[in-house]
Amino acid sequence: MNKQHVDAAARLLGERVRRDVPIGPLTTYRVGGPAALLTELASDDDVGAVATAVQATGVPTLVVGRGSNLLVADEGFPGLVITLGGLFAELDIAGVDVHAGAAVSLPVLARRTAAAALTGLEWAVGVPGSVGGAVRMNAGGHGSDVSATLVSARVVDLTTGEDRTVAKDRLDLGYRHSAVSGHDVVLGATFALAPGDRAASETQIAEIVRWRRENQPGGSNAGSVFTNPPGDSAGRLIDAAGLKGHRVGSAHVSPKHANFFQADEGGSADDVLALIEEVQRLVEERTGVHLHPELRLVGFRSIPS
Ligand SMILES: Cc1cc2nc3c(=O)[nH]c(=O)nc-3n(C[C@H](O)[C@H](O)[C@H](O)COP(=O)(O)OP(=O)(O)OC[C@H]3O[C@@H](n4cnc5c(N)ncnc54)[C@H](O)[C@@H]3O)c2cc1C
Repeated sequence: MNKQHVDAAARLLGERVRRDVPIGPLTTYRVGGPAALLTELASDDDVGAVATAVQATGVPTLVVGRGSNLLVADEGFPGLVITLGGLFAELDIAGVDVHAGAAVSLPVLARRTAAAALTGLEWAVGVPGSVGGAVRMNAGGHGSDVSATLVSARVVDLTTGEDRTVAKDRLDLGYRHSAVSGHDVVLGATFALAPGDRAASETQIAEIVRWRRENQPGGSNAGSVFTNPPGDSAGRLIDAAGLKGHRVGSAHVSPKHANFFQADEGGSADDVLALIEEVQRLVEERTGVHLHPELRLVGFRSIPS
């Protein structure tokens, strides 16, 4: 069934798509199989063409930002993977108003706004995602998150082609949650910052970078695997369950930060999923707390919730 959708979408999109493109290199885990089709949205024309093809064929879609909260199965994704660039990688700063295309990286957003003597997005230097992925996840850290300064986001529903500017209060932003759905693509976001002091913001940024280096591992991971349960931390619970360093095949729990799971070079996404399921089960058995994945798991036959 999917193959028919994929072939039909490939015919409609012509040179806009490539077939059988590895997704691993587009993610920070660097594991996982291919996208049946991949396209990059660089202009409004591209968005229109892709929305038309999705409506005409029903091909499943997956938007990939910087792939820093994403684990794609070794089997890959049997649909159309969408990345963003071109027009959607632009950043405009006008007074305290910041308009960022969805493909702008959060560390760049943090540094550019600080250099413009604006304050409010310093935290974003530590989150290696894109603006689009950050809106979808309501990413945050160091006492703040996207919702603190977001005004609105431009969102296109690929199944209807509807192109809307959605005000923050309509995005239902909560802890690592938003109303942006799997068939929506965020094309850009507008933030309202406050006038600040460039040197103070740059000092704060340097402190965040230092803290991250000291407390979080490098290598192939996607940050926190599980959300923190109310009043506790997933990392503390995994550590308390004795699972730091725990290994399943080519994946292991980081000895440095227990809520970060590392994939070996050339490792397997299915091993990472097996580790997630095993840690979830063992933490529940040993501490009584059920942890929920923060990581987006794609292409697997069944996924833990
Ligand atoms: C070392 C490390 C540290 C991290 N620390 C933090 C942290 O402190 N706080 C935090 O919140 N997160 C953290 N993360 C996780 C991650 O960076 C964030 O969730 C980030 O917002 C994901 O953005 P992305 O562009 O990489 O999204 P992806 O991983 O590409 O995608 C994540 C989800 O968003 C969707 N998506 C992506 N782009 C779009 C778009 N344009 N339109 C619609 N949907 C889209 C995807 O389909 C997927 O469902 C960390 C990750 C790493 C690797």
